[in-house]
Amino acid sequence: MANEQKGSSGTSILSLPTEVLSEVLARVASSSSTDLFRAKLCCKLFYEVSDANNIYQRVSLDKFEIVLWQKNHKVSRFLKNCRESKNPEALYRKGVVDFFTDKHEDSALECVEEAANSGHADAAYALGIIYIFVGRDELKCKGLRLLKKSRILKGRVKLCSDNLLALLRMIWVKNLVFLNPTSICFAMTHERKTSSWPMDADEVEESTCEDCACDEEIGTICAALPYR
Ligand SMILES: [Zn+2]
Repeated sequence: MANEQKGSSGTSILSLPTEVLSEVLARVASSSSTDLFRAKLCCKLFYEVSDANNIYQRVSLDKFEIVLWQKNHKVSRFLKNCRESKNPEALYRKGVVDFFTDKHEDSALECVEEAANSGHADAAYALGIIYIFVGRDELKCKGLRLLKKSRILKGRVKLCSDNLLALLRMIWVKNLVFLNPTSICFAMTHERKTSSWPMDADEVEESTCEDCACDEEIGTICAALPYR
């Protein structure tokens, strides 16, 4: 092996088939957008391979502000590319921000649904909450099922709730559906639990009225909302 390598210049990353290089760059992108941008500056080939859907779809957005306070066309274009390539985090952010600030409600909901369907836990939680707020009967049940039974959210409800609240604290909530939530459980004798949804449904007795649990969950969200 050592002798074989002596005569050649070794295996260069540039000699990799494009699909392999693309996969390498996608993995780099998924752990750090900064590293991806550095890689793009290395050479023309890296630059070209990086400008592809699979990279936009997987790139980490950790380094990007959730709400852009100043217009930045480069960043906006990059995030748009991410959404068009179905990057779940990009779809989740756009969908939640737009829905709660009452912009393009239908397409916002589609973004959150798409992110949730691709396995994004925060999006699944946000979708459950939105369904509960906006829905009656069928949609409300769908929201409840998502929060209580979804495999993606198993053991992660509290974390996702905290993440959604952190996002909502950065924006002005203008969508009227969140302003005056009506009580879901009408049973006067039901006592509200003080805690939120069970972290893990298997560990907690399923004795609580589902509608009460629903009221508690949306109550937590409403209590933390900054309105304008
Ligand atoms: Zn109840």
